[in-house]
Amino acid sequence: MIRDDLQRRGIGMTSQRTRERLIQRLHDEGLSNVEVLEVIRRTPRHLFVDEALAHRAYEDTALPIGHNQTISQPFMVARMTELLLAGGPLDKVMEIGTGSGYQTAVLAQLVERVFSVERIQSLQDRAKERLLELNLRNVVFRWGDGWEGWPALTPYNGIIVTAAAAQVPQALLDQLAPGGRLVIPVGTGEEQQLMLIVREGERFSRQVLDPVRFVPLLSGSVF
Ligand code: SAH
Repeated sequence: MIRDDLQRRGIGMTSQRTRERLIQRLHDEGLSNVEVLEVIRRTPRHLFVDEALAHRAYEDTALPIGHNQTISQPFMVARMTELLLAGGPLDKVMEIGTGSGYQTAVLAQLVERVFSVERIQSLQDRAKERLLELNLRNVVFRWGDGWEGWPALTPYNGIIVTAAAAQVPQALLDQLAPGGRLVIPVGTGEEQQLMLIVREGERFSRQVLDPVRFVPLLSGSVF
């Protein structure tokens, strides 16, 4: 859990109220995992965006983080985290798309270890600094192409992808432990759906859930 002084850093009491409103809204929209909501309440999202956008950090909306990328909408972070955890506690979770590190920070407070892969090195460097600042130390980072996952540390009990894949990457299915859960937006442009895939032995059960809108899962890695 993030310490009180760290969660309030650089933000006034007015924003504390805006934060409470956000949690109320997520709850009203049907998110019911109280542990997830509590972690979102305590995680200072304003530290994950540019100072110029900090005043909008507790709106339920995606915001730009540079490099044509966005910090995910709080609703979507909560929804995907709930889906990932719905089968019980997880010890090893891989995240594809570190971005600002916000989803990473939420996960780090709910699972034992997070392995986060990002293709844009400078975004990941900044995310690393933020997590250290918040004293979240159970995360390791890899700069690379998420289409390949992180084979050296396989298998994972949970995998979460925060960019939309045209199709489900085979490597991620291969790296899922028995009983493991993969939460991933699949599709292109405006035709994307959130999917939950659960590994049952050598088979995979697939559930198509909400229509969603994410930036695309691209190939290769860049500075
Ligand atoms: N969870 C992040 C979301 C960032 S947006 C947050 O809340 O801040 C999606 C991220 O996925 C971007 O940072 C983008 O660079 C990254 N991404 C896109 N394709 C990727 C790939 N093939 N491998 C790893 N990361 C990728």
